[in-house]
Amino acid sequence: MSLTAQNHRIPLNDGNSIPLIGLGTYSTPRTTDKDACYRAVKIAIDVGYRHFDGAWIYGNEEEIGRAFQEKIADGTVSRDDIYYCGKLWNTFHPPEMVQPFLEKNLKLLNFDYIDLYIIELPLAFKPGDVMYPRDENGKYLYHPTDLCATWEALELCKDAGLVKSIGVSNFNRRQLEQILNKPGLKYKPAVNQVECHPYFTQSKLKAFCESHDIVIVGYSPLGTCRDPLWVNIKIPSLLEDPVLNCVAAKYKKTSAQVALRYQIQRNVVVIPKSFNPERIQLNFEIFDFYLTDEEMKTIDALNKNKRYVELLMWNDHPEYPFNDDY
Ligand code: NAP
Repeated sequence: MSLTAQNHRIPLNDGNSIPLIGLGTYSTPRTTDKDACYRAVKIAIDVGYRHFDGAWIYGNEEEIGRAFQEKIADGTVSRDDIYYCGKLWNTFHPPEMVQPFLEKNLKLLNFDYIDLYIIELPLAFKPGDVMYPRDENGKYLYHPTDLCATWEALELCKDAGLVKSIGVSNFNRRQLEQILNKPGLKYKPAVNQVECHPYFTQSKLKAFCESHDIVIVGYSPLGTCRDPLWVNIKIPSLLEDPVLNCVAAKYKKTSAQVALRYQIQRNVVVIPKSFNPERIQLNFEIFDFYLTDEEMKTIDALNKNKRYVELLMWNDHPEYPFNDDY
């Protein structure tokens, strides 16, 4: 299949399709200007992005919705051109909370459906509006997790037409199998959104997902923003990698473009985040060069099998996903 800036969708197991590149939208509110995300989404639409990765927990869905509405109103795109992925937060896992929470997301976005809705983490927290519930000693308050029950609630949202596709995020093989082996399963997860880049290639999880027609969406495809509050910065900076930079020089590209191109050539969806106009543009310029099989193998070999995003603060949760091999 030849991928172009205009046509780079790949099929999902439910008959829908997903664009191989989307704009990530997480940026810490501590240091991010109000409306930075709104401006970035509008610029990205003008550049040609049609896929946007968001979440209620990022605190900017209203900005994203406003940007979408303005670009729809000025005729640049129609609602159907846009592909939005939203996420179910940890405090809304009980089945009866799923649809009302999704409706809250739809209202913020001013949409009547979301293209892809995923369970953000397999970690149920104490239900309610406190995003990070903790006790008086600062210990996180969890909730007994029934991933299958939450999944059934997502299936109902799809049947109600509120979402086109449903999926999961940060699920390991065992957790995916729980869903896949659920008696009466109506829809398989369409995607599993996980950390994935040349330093963490996820080859085993990817092979498992492919064997079940589940697409991998790779988050932190550029190696994160390296915020030490949530990133393991002992792992070197991906974009400074000498091999990526050497391949980039050959094609007169940047290491970021090579890291993204590597993923789309192996059918991994990428969602690089940038709120900088020049980098939003550059990150989309990945359809005019092609990595050879040998270069793909050389980049495969950069894998360190270590995560930037370890979520260690929740490693005492019974469903903490990253203790398993994959
Ligand atoms: P990322 O996309 O790997 O990297 C973003 C960082 O790289 C930002 O600091 C950005 O800064 C910078 N950057 C962007 N383009 C660049 C370029 N061409 N050259 C140099 N630096 C560049 O990291 P991420 O935000 O962790 O991951 C992407 C998206 O994945 C998130 O925004 C979010 O939507 C999603 N995500 C999901 C989960 C999950 O649990 N499901 C977890 C993490 C992330 P500027 O903005 O200044 O360009």
